[in-house]
Amino acid sequence: ARSVHQIQSGQVIVDLCSVAKELVENSLDAGATSIEVRFKNNGLDLIEVQDNGGGIAPDNYANIALKHYTSKLSSFDDLSRLNTFGFRGEALSSLCALADFHIVTAQAQQVPRANRLDFEQSGKLGKTQIVAGQKGTTASVEGIFKRLPVRRRELEKNIKREYGKVLNLLHAYACISSGVRFSVRNAVGKTRNVVVFSTNANRTTKENIANVYGAKTLSALIPLDLELEFEPSAATRRAAATNGEQLNHIQLRGHISRPVFGEGRQTPDRQMFFVNSRPCGLPQIAKAFNEVYKSFNVSQSPFIFADFQMDTNAYDVNVSPDKRSILLHDAAALIESLKTSL
Ligand code: ADP
Ligand code: MG
Repeated sequence: ARSVHQIQSGQVIVDLCSVAKELVENSLDAGATSIEVRFKNNGLDLIEVQDNGGGIAPDNYANIALKHYTSKLSSFDDLSRLNTFGFRGEALSSLCALADFHIVTAQAQQVPRANRLDFEQSGKLGKTQIVAGQKGTTASVEGIFKRLPVRRRELEKNIKREYGKVLNLLHAYACISSGVRFSVRNAVGKTRNVVVFSTNANRTTKENIANVYGAKTLSALIPLDLELEFEPSAATRRAAATNGEQLNHIQLRGHISRPVFGEGRQTPDRQMFFVNSRPCGLPQIAKAFNEVYKSFNVSQSPFIFADFQMDTNAYDVNVSPDKRSILLHDAAALIESLKTSL
């Protein structure tokens, strides 16, 4: 029978993107400047994320995969102003319930020794072993959804599409993360690891975009730098007042493709959206951009890399357990203002 833990975990980790998101965000939270993601069979057999971050303190080994354990919060009050991606302590515990999960980790002073930690389904620490390793953490997820057979079959059926989605998400992390080297590999069947894409530890998002989409893409892009001003909604003002803060306006930074009139596609029709540099889907905003391009009679759908910097009171990330949807309190006003500015 399926346990409550498995069912709840299936709501935190809904697909390959959730796995990649949680592991990559943990690596970024750990201060990594190099992140390598490895897939086997497009992620069906293995998704592994290796970082050169701070590693995990031995005192924490027994806790990290327990439900609701997080090292990132000192008090509940901090929740609203947290800068790290994680804070719920649900990801690792969920991965244990849904797959075979192990970690290899070393803090600087332990190198060249590292510790391999195998976790049980419940999240309890199982076997531990000393192995050779570098500073940082490697988290390995084998056989995702093996304990939710219907979900597993669904994933196997749609693996091509799911793998495409997870690559797009990794593109977004790689482009937005300045100073972090990304490398993504995949091994399909008996073939060796193939590097799918990589970035250098670039200083600018522009250089990252060139690494991911090719230098040619850059010449088709124009910078996006807008200040969007509008009357904040009651919800936003209430949240700000509760936190005793001033509201500021929204700043939009990024790159969009130069409108190409008539036929001809010059840029990949990729659209990446971020709120405070956190990748997220913003379908209403995407629609607004596409409508503006259409109104100019532009045939192709634009390349968009758009990072909205805004007050943390202006949105809610906690609307879904997987934290991927963001609720903007002022979506309508923002879209109006965006259309005008574009
Ligand atoms: P959260 O990120 O919400 O704290 P997770 O379940 O994702 O919860 O991770 C649990 C804990 O495991 C983290 O709080 C952190 O202490 C530790 N951890 C996970 N991944 C890493 C990593 N790559 N490097 C260092 N510590 C990590
Ligand atoms: Mg996390």
